[in-house]
Amino acid sequence: MIKKVEGLIIDDRNYSESSKILFVITKEYGLISIMAKGVRKIKSKLRGVTGKLTYGYFHVYYKENKLSTLIDVDIINSLKLIKTDLLKISYTSYLCELVGQVIKQVSLDKDKKEIFDVFIGTLLKINEGFDPMVLTNILELKLLDYLGVKPMIDSCVKCGDTKAIITISPEKGGFLCHKCHNEEYIVKDKTIQMIRMFYYVDITKITKLDIDSILKNEINKIIEHYYEIHTGLYLKSKDFLHKINVDKCSVV
Ligand SMILES: [Zn+2]
Repeated sequence: MIKKVEGLIIDDRNYSESSKILFVITKEYGLISIMAKGVRKIKSKLRGVTGKLTYGYFHVYYKENKLSTLIDVDIINSLKLIKTDLLKISYTSYLCELVGQVIKQVSLDKDKKEIFDVFIGTLLKINEGFDPMVLTNILELKLLDYLGVKPMIDSCVKCGDTKAIITISPEKGGFLCHKCHNEEYIVKDKTIQMIRMFYYVDITKITKLDIDSILKNEINKIIEHYYEIHTGLYLKSKDFLHKINVDKCSVV
């Protein structure tokens, strides 16, 4: 059956002499594999539109739960700014790997579509020049819901109080109030507000992301720690991100 699907290539693998298998996150079907025949040939007209991070409409012979076959691609956005910046590429590679893992764990079409939308929304904002670390953190927070380990960020995890929140504890799974706080590290007030904002914000509506680097790094550490404790995911692209000097990523 010939279908037109909206998708983004998160990974690819060479196949035989001149072909490739593309791993594409799609709005309609979640993660699918597409055989792209002959696209590594110099003369192939699809050569330039079958690389990682290609975002477009894929015309395919679609086979459910099997390898589909590529017919053509119409580019929606070339994501040029991302592709010419090492830092942006690094964050984006990590997000591709992360979203690929998360989408495999959800079964509802509705969830897959939501993940696709929030993922593409994030990449488009990175491509517009917004801070890739902050956007990565926003997407990471939103994805926790689909992994079934959403942090408690509306009230204290222990007593449910909404007022005297003084910190967030990855170990305890969310906010802690003044009474329930024990020996946990106390974060900045702003960090608590920001984490809620990150979780609830509509990414497509972001027009400004002015967050100072101390705050940014604190939030990033909390989310990273939360992922280590609660998700069981190991992503090799994250190691590379660690090696990059995060101070270089500034708001444009
Ligand atoms: Zn409490």
